[in-house]
Amino acid sequence: MKLKTFASLLIILVVTKLVNAQSIPTISAVQPIVPTPEVYKLVEGQLILADNISVSSKDLPENIKTYLIEKLNHVYELRTTISAVSKDLIFKKIVNVPKDWYSINVNETITITYSSEESCFYAVVSLLQMIEGKNGELFIQKCFVQDAPNFQWRGLHLDVARHFYTVEEVKRFIDLMAFYKFNTFHWHLTDDQGWRIEIKKYPKLTEIGAWRDSTVNAHYSTIPRTYTVEKYGGYYTQEQIKEVVSYAAAQYITIVPEIEMPGHARAALAAYPQYSCTGEQQGVPGLWGVFDDIFCAHESTFDFLYGIMDEVLELFPSTYIHIGGDEAPKARWKKCKKCQAVIRENGLKDEHELQSYFIGKMDEYLTAKGRKLIGWDEILEGGLSPNAAVMSWRGMEGGLEAAKMKHYAVMSPGSHCYFDHYQSDSPSEPLAIGGYTPIEKVYQFSPIPTGLDNEGLTYILGGQANLWTEYIPTMQQLEYMTYPRALALSQALWCKSRPAYADFKATLLYHQFDFLERYNVNFSKAVTFAKYSLKNTENGVKLELAKEAADQSFNVHYSDTNGAHDQGLTKGDSIVFERTEINQVNPVKVEISNKFTDDKQGFTLIQHPSLGLKVELITKPSAQYSGKGGETLTDGILGTRPWKGNEWLGFQDQEIELQVDLGKVSAIDSIDLSFLQDEGSWIHHPYILRFSVSKNGKKWKYLKNAEIKTYEYTIDPNNLMPYRAILKSKGRFVSIKLTTFDVIPEGLPGENNVPWTFMDELIIYFK
Ligand SMILES: [Zn+2]
Repeated sequence: MKLKTFASLLIILVVTKLVNAQSIPTISAVQPIVPTPEVYKLVEGQLILADNISVSSKDLPENIKTYLIEKLNHVYELRTTISAVSKDLIFKKIVNVPKDWYSINVNETITITYSSEESCFYAVVSLLQMIEGKNGELFIQKCFVQDAPNFQWRGLHLDVARHFYTVEEVKRFIDLMAFYKFNTFHWHLTDDQGWRIEIKKYPKLTEIGAWRDSTVNAHYSTIPRTYTVEKYGGYYTQEQIKEVVSYAAAQYITIVPEIEMPGHARAALAAYPQYSCTGEQQGVPGLWGVFDDIFCAHESTFDFLYGIMDEVLELFPSTYIHIGGDEAPKARWKKCKKCQAVIRENGLKDEHELQSYFIGKMDEYLTAKGRKLIGWDEILEGGLSPNAAVMSWRGMEGGLEAAKMKHYAVMSPGSHCYFDHYQSDSPSEPLAIGGYTPIEKVYQFSPIPTGLDNEGLTYILGGQANLWTEYIPTMQQLEYMTYPRALALSQALWCKSRPAYADFKATLLYHQFDFLERYNVNFSKAVTFAKYSLKNTENGVKLELAKEAADQSFNVHYSDTNGAHDQGLTKGDSIVFERTEINQVNPVKVEISNKFTDDKQGFTLIQHPSLGLKVELITKPSAQYSGKGGETLTDGILGTRPWKGNEWLGFQDQEIELQVDLGKVSAIDSIDLSFLQDEGSWIHHPYILRFSVSKNGKKWKYLKNAEIKTYEYTIDPNNLMPYRAILKSKGRFVSIKLTTFDVIPEGLPGENNVPWTFMDELIIYFK
């Protein structure tokens, strides 16, 4: 790709400028380190890294020495010598400075001053990020850096249950975290679909619980579901776990293990069904979701879990132990004699208090062993256990509530910290669970909730991002989903004050993308994608750059009925796709390439006879799924299947009405309509479609004889319109009324609720 050349060119350009014109502000705009250090002061000139760098061994901790030498020698292909009298790179440990404080002074030599081993390591990773240029011609911009972290919990989470990652892959995940000064790795080791940690007392946990016979294909909500019938799984031996724990510790990362309870326990119950309420033998599921079968709350279950915890505590020295606690349906507990007896004997009000009792037992046990319990925010329900810390995922409220009660909290709200969500709206994104969390949004995250006093603030430990892996089957894709969003998160957790997003983006483009490439990270380049808009215009739709992309230049390549076109697109330009005059539907493949990076993105626009026509939504769509309003239906962009969020208009009304203005009285032949069917998300096709026409928008003629044809839709973009209504009428306005069935039938997800109607694009044909 061209970015590298561009970035190095820019640096050379700016550096030359510096020598001639002292243009320091330009250079400081591209400060290289992420997370941004507290102080970064430029000094004129660069320190050229000679082939042979002598590193002082004094005050250099042994494992950091190993780390530094390995990187300099093997990644940057420099030669290093270590000796007590070296002068090129010097370390000084000092006292009376804040914890984790460090400074780097780059002039004729490099001096690193630090307060703790951690901060010495942080200085070293900052230094690595400062190295510019190609192998053999490396330099560091002369500067002074001073730095210290803001929050103490700077975490990334990895789910190895839904998809398994090998020891080598987990180590790689840890290596990359360390570059961005994350210090907590939350290892989600057990879930319904797999138990991944060897427990010697209960060998069946891994013999049976680590393996499933099948895995669901496509998206969870795609009905009917199909499965890949193939044994899938894996686990870590206790020796491997110890190896990973010490590997992480060498990079100053604490591993917090998660053993899920009482819910998400199907893998454990497949191995030991006696700890469920029914005792029924069931397999390890190959489907995602939330299951009714959870751990029974009777005494023998606690003995089982304590036995597991005894071995977990031996392996993990972390203060915090995560016990899950989320998404535990109470259906089984309600019908279980043993659980009901526990409720009675302990004077509990209901099953929510039983959940609180369950967590309380684990809290007591962990506290007695000198550890602290942390769980997802559902552990607040039925009363928070005395020593428990809360990981807030359903928004910030759980963490806020915990901090108000003087319990520690880690913020990980789904809105900003779920990296299994989509990061761009490009159709080329790999299938994800849903949601939309672009890097700009992650950058806005702060772990500090509103409504806390100063004392409450001391209970906010920090934050973390979660990598749930239902839809992340490979390491390659895991890196893609994590990077560069993790860089934006590291800013939120490390920096006391963050630079503007535009400055952060410049650091990404001019430094960090090169750094990630140097370490062969498969990262997303969504920040370089054109942010564009398609707006209705007089004779069709108009493509323009959005404000955020106004500083960039793109080339647009597309072919329509007039042939192939290439056109530049910068601020102020627009490209109009006209509606077809004859009754023609013409898919136009549009490819937008970034002129600097060469990165390409694309979409298919359907040119059709009602492109860009005005649509009035008499019934308002739900605020979450309102797209661009009525324009969404005639912009030529068809909602994708599976649903990716923002192209569809979503309604939750039983009666939906909209009107199309054709601009002039016209002879109408027919109309094509498209709806989404996604039973898992409660989205259904409408039940009745009714059409009326009007010449003036006042007097309406109901077309009771409109003939409605339905088609099987496929993923073929030419055949995405499953309904055609033959109207054969004349008018300027067309009214469309949709009626859904009143409630979702029993036996289907969301039974007895009003179904959602998701609609995108309507095409009107003329005579
Ligand atoms: Zn029970």
